[in-house]
Amino acid sequence: MLRLPSEIRVAFARAFGDAEVLVLHSAPRAIGWVGGGVEGIAHALLEAAEGRTLVVPTFTVQRMDPSTWFNPGAPEDMWDAIRAELPLYDPDRSPPRGMGRLAEQVWRARGAVRSSHPVESVAAVGPRAVELVRPHPIDDPMGRRSPWARLYECDARVVLVGVGLERCSILHHAERMAEVPYLDSAAYAMPVEIDGERRWVEAVSGNNCSDGFPSLSAPHTALDVGDARTMVYSARVLVDAARAALAADPGALLCRRPECAACAAARDDIQAAGR
Ligand SMILES: [Zn+2]
Repeated sequence: MLRLPSEIRVAFARAFGDAEVLVLHSAPRAIGWVGGGVEGIAHALLEAAEGRTLVVPTFTVQRMDPSTWFNPGAPEDMWDAIRAELPLYDPDRSPPRGMGRLAEQVWRARGAVRSSHPVESVAAVGPRAVELVRPHPIDDPMGRRSPWARLYECDARVVLVGVGLERCSILHHAERMAEVPYLDSAAYAMPVEIDGERRWVEAVSGNNCSDGFPSLSAPHTALDVGDARTMVYSARVLVDAARAALAADPGALLCRRPECAACAAARDDIQAAGR
């Protein structure tokens, strides 16, 4: 069924309610056939978000140290050569990876601000964009000094359009704040330029796998944006629910896929910590 962008705009506005700050994760294909395609959907989104601040993740995980790549991993004999040639992050140019085509449109929207983190950047448009996006410390992409802590603080509305909690980045903030025992082994390095010199620095965020996140249950509202099932959470309610679940069981947000190396390593860490 073909829909007009104006119909999608009304649906977005309904999902946003009276929220001032929004975090969007989306798969625009799930919305279905819309006049103007993803560009029409982006116009509808930005119009519905007018006067509010809209935040999207714009991660560039292609910049992580090759020893931490998985699905597929990089051959070990190429790690050093890859390290030497990985491009440095440029907030104006570095393309997000796997964030969806709508995030791509928001990042490139007029007036959008993108954070400085070389791997886990976020972008925002709207009145509070700068204060939410900056600063973004390199060593603390998801923790208490990160944009995600500020999004929790202002109780942003987390809007998932055609995707589930497996795409919900603020749950990594919950892992980080809960100090789960598997954070250290999920640390990664990335290339940065310091005083004109190329160096590698380390960061700790959350687990590298988020496929287990949908097992979390938290109150939300559900509605449709076009054909896309859409879930809307309060950032505070969601993060608090995740922290409670992690306090009861530090493995609560790990996935059950037997082939997942990240979650297997995390389970080993939990066992080693005796929890
Ligand atoms: Zn996993």
